[in-house]
Amino acid sequence: MMISAIVPLYNEEESLEKLYPRLKSALNKLKIEHEIVFVDDGSSDSSLQILKKLASKDNTVKIYSLRKHSGKSEALTYGFKKAAGDYVVTLDADLQDRPEEIQNLLDKSREGFELVSGWRKNRKDSLHMKIPSKFFNFLMGAFWGVHLHDYNCGLKLYTKEAAKSLRLYGGMHRFIPLLVSEKGFEVTEIPVVHEPRLYGRSKYGFSKVFKDIPDMFTILFLTKYAKRPLHFFGLTGGILSAIGSLILLYLVILKLLGETIGGRPLLTFGMLLVLVGLQILFTGFIADLIINLNEKNKLDEEAEDELKFKSE
Ligand code: UDP
Ligand code: MG
Repeated sequence: MMISAIVPLYNEEESLEKLYPRLKSALNKLKIEHEIVFVDDGSSDSSLQILKKLASKDNTVKIYSLRKHSGKSEALTYGFKKAAGDYVVTLDADLQDRPEEIQNLLDKSREGFELVSGWRKNRKDSLHMKIPSKFFNFLMGAFWGVHLHDYNCGLKLYTKEAAKSLRLYGGMHRFIPLLVSEKGFEVTEIPVVHEPRLYGRSKYGFSKVFKDIPDMFTILFLTKYAKRPLHFFGLTGGILSAIGSLILLYLVILKLLGETIGGRPLLTFGMLLVLVGLQILFTGFIADLIINLNEKNKLDEEAEDELKFKSE
């Protein structure tokens, strides 16, 4: 049995030297083999030098450094790819997540959960971070039925399979419990102690609210319609066209009754709705064709593999 601890970090020079001994002793207490994977997200301060110093004294420390600042999602995904453990635990580098909680997460996971997410029950961040976050968690539960108090806690423990199933980019790390659950893994959360940020600065501000909501649409699409886009486009386009057709029908009746309709704004509006609706509908068709081609290619590859197998 082995556990990989993954720490994504971006300009966290102040906390790394304090994080390492605490993380190390927490991992030692687990009584299973471990490795510590630091993923430096293109830091511009002395984080990398500090990490190299740590790695020179401890060969369980691995450092991967992204050439370019790419965001937490990408740093995590890279760490998952490189992780060798049967379990994978992630934690933030700023010591807001306590390494001592790893034991509790691991115990919970052994009850049969493939992702155990931390719940910062008594969160030590400013109100302008906490309130949007509450709203976000509520919406996620309401839309998808995966009810967690806290989606975006940095402290999470996965089985190897769950971690390696993720390909995160952009703002997707906020949706991890949903993405993992959509793939059929068992997900749960346990309360964890959260610390205020004593070192360095938060990398996210209030502006993330404006990124969370658009991201939600992407995730909605990816989780619900990625394999059947026509259901989405067809419905949207169909409704618009139907409203447009009703409007035109109404105008036709007026015309038959002898009124002039040529100058009415409603005529333009109705025509626009029909046209736009049809365009949306056909966009869906094209999306469906693309997916169909893709699936066919997959089938072909499988068939080829099969052929190879039989000729041996
Ligand atoms: N982080 C990162 N790349 C980024 C932003 C953040 O690797 O683009 C790391 C950061 O160094 C920290 C963790 O992700 O280890 C969480 O970031 P932060 O503490 O700023 O988020 P908050 O706790 O304020 O939500
Ligand atoms: Mg933090």
